[in-house]
Amino acid sequence: MRIVAGASLVVLAGLALMPAGLKAITLNVAPAPAAVDGKRLVNAASEPGNWMTHGGTYAEQRYANLDQITAGNVGRLGLAWAHDLDTNRGQEATPLVIDGTMYTTTAWSKVVALDAATGKVKWQYDPQVSKDRGHAACCDVVNRGVAAWGGMIFVGALDGRLIALDAATGKVKWSVVTFDQKQPYTITGAPRVVKGKVLIGNGGAELGVRGYITAYDALTGKKAWRFYTIPGDPAKGPDHEASDDVLKAKAGDSWFGKYWEAGGGGTVWDAIVYDAELDHLYIGVGNGSPWNHQIRSEGKGDNLFLSSVVALNPDTGKYLWHYQGTPGESWDFTQTQPIMLATLTIDGKPRKVLMQAPKNGFFYVIDRETGKLISAKGFVPQSWTTGVDPATGRPVETPDARFRTAAALVTPSALGAHNWHPMAFSPKTGLVYLPAQEVPFAYQTDPNYTHKQGAWNIAVIAALNAPPNNAAATRATRAILKGELLAWDPVAQKEVWRVQYDGPWNGGALATAGNLVFQGNAKGGFQAFDATNGKTVWGFEAQTGVMAGPISYMVGRTQYVAVMAGYGGAYPLSTGYPDGPERIAPNGRVLVFKLGGTAKLPPYKAPALAPANPPTGMFTPQQIARGGDVYEGNCGVCHGAGARSSGLVPDLRRSGALSDSGTWAAVVHGGILKDRGMVSFAKWFSKDDIEAVRAYVGVQAKFLATDEGAKLAATGSAGK
Ligand code: CA
Repeated sequence: MRIVAGASLVVLAGLALMPAGLKAITLNVAPAPAAVDGKRLVNAASEPGNWMTHGGTYAEQRYANLDQITAGNVGRLGLAWAHDLDTNRGQEATPLVIDGTMYTTTAWSKVVALDAATGKVKWQYDPQVSKDRGHAACCDVVNRGVAAWGGMIFVGALDGRLIALDAATGKVKWSVVTFDQKQPYTITGAPRVVKGKVLIGNGGAELGVRGYITAYDALTGKKAWRFYTIPGDPAKGPDHEASDDVLKAKAGDSWFGKYWEAGGGGTVWDAIVYDAELDHLYIGVGNGSPWNHQIRSEGKGDNLFLSSVVALNPDTGKYLWHYQGTPGESWDFTQTQPIMLATLTIDGKPRKVLMQAPKNGFFYVIDRETGKLISAKGFVPQSWTTGVDPATGRPVETPDARFRTAAALVTPSALGAHNWHPMAFSPKTGLVYLPAQEVPFAYQTDPNYTHKQGAWNIAVIAALNAPPNNAAATRATRAILKGELLAWDPVAQKEVWRVQYDGPWNGGALATAGNLVFQGNAKGGFQAFDATNGKTVWGFEAQTGVMAGPISYMVGRTQYVAVMAGYGGAYPLSTGYPDGPERIAPNGRVLVFKLGGTAKLPPYKAPALAPANPPTGMFTPQQIARGGDVYEGNCGVCHGAGARSSGLVPDLRRSGALSDSGTWAAVVHGGILKDRGMVSFAKWFSKDDIEAVRAYVGVQAKFLATDEGAKLAATGSAGK
């Protein structure tokens, strides 16, 4: 019997008076909220009814050892409850469930505590992130979840605050600012708590920052250590942080030129995984800033520890080992993607391994005692490499992949063969369930690149990737983009089965002891597959794309499956939505299922769209061309390439401001919509440049008007 805080002394005294030999009585006292400690987290696998840390347990296999729901009865799975959110921005969080309470985050770093059986709100917390911080978020104002420890819930806010909340009330216990808020950093990742320390990284390497991870005392918020993943400006001397020695000894010689001007990159924006068996901490390190290695580092050097897994001592933050998947990173090949730990039998011997499938398209199995590569295999077509040299552990690059002299179409690319979407591992099948994707990107060095403080700084011409001005040609381009759920055998390094989708950016995966795999998808489906053969055994229409990682838990005798629904993130923001913004509404929801669940979502209502609003004025071809360069290099990342918006942020082709030069300038130059997240671009672009962007978007609006006119004519519904 676990004596829990809150059990009254009277009851305990009564137990002490009981005659010996009586059967132990379970106290019917609700445990204190989020009563999680090191012992419970290390032994989380023995509490399969709870989901106490981001990946389920410290090993982050996202395996629920629950088998009430099986392939045989999943047909009876129905909605138990849904909790409506206040925004249609992307939902990427993995909820935690601890002793009957669910804690999750939503876009804009808000936190909600819900009764896990009924969905009743216990408390909500809004950190009131200033909307203009959204400009620094490369990939939507998302948040991937909370951590729990000692009656507290920890959230990393988009604006850099790490906030400890009282798990009972949602009131702030402490709050620390984890980065220089004058720099374009953000936090979207979930904190982890290890041995009484809260660990958090950050993002921002598309705009220009230097990455690091920091550990804070969970009780007080006092900083314990910080590890910078790459060297700083040598003129400034050492950082006096845990990373000083290893950066000097190993990393410094791998960088060239004035790499510090744009920060250099290497942000730790997702994977932070604790290995309780070896007492190691593994962090996934992101891409270079700017992306382009020619410009960042004169085209020379491995640029340690970009695009690497680095093992640290969790108590001190000191370096233990690293494995770099992409030396001299030049494609936004982050290696921040989810990391999971397992013991696999390889060549007849049990090996303690770390598994990761980062953006570059290799599935890595790494010995986590030494950091030595055991095996690496491409899980999608890779044009940049022919494989990994087993002797050196380095990728063998194809000759033109680095776009040194000409543009190169490279696959996989910046959106990743696999991005942040969680993968799952079933010890029963021995398979990893991996949400993979195939998205090429045309890279070309931007000859006019100069670092613009706080702006988008990738040193690659993004305009090459703008879609053609023709609906049929755009559809043809879209058709080459693919996504798949791969069931991957990590020992044999081969695919066992797949679910093929006609587009990327589908959901994270969950494996269960009921021999099921749950996954959402871009088109608004949430499905269950037989873990052995991939057969679809259940599906639910979620009304919006589902990209987050599902979880499973128990309350009483009932097994639940939960997922955050709400499409968004880097892919729809930057590329628009394949069939228009129809799936972007409604607002996000927490969806929770159980056998025999009978709850229903309200009927789906498609959003009303304003008509295209092209300007009537004349623009010169030079204006339109200049506007295209500025738009695609700075605006398209949120408003969509070719001004084809996802609907998450306004579709500029339909904007009332587009037809009026003065209103356009007041928004884009004057910043009158700053409080809605549209910052002024006056410090980076002249009024002429901003008017040129209007010219370019105007051309896109004319094409939209033509397309929509043709559609109306074809359906005979003109004037409707
Ligand atoms: Ca990136």
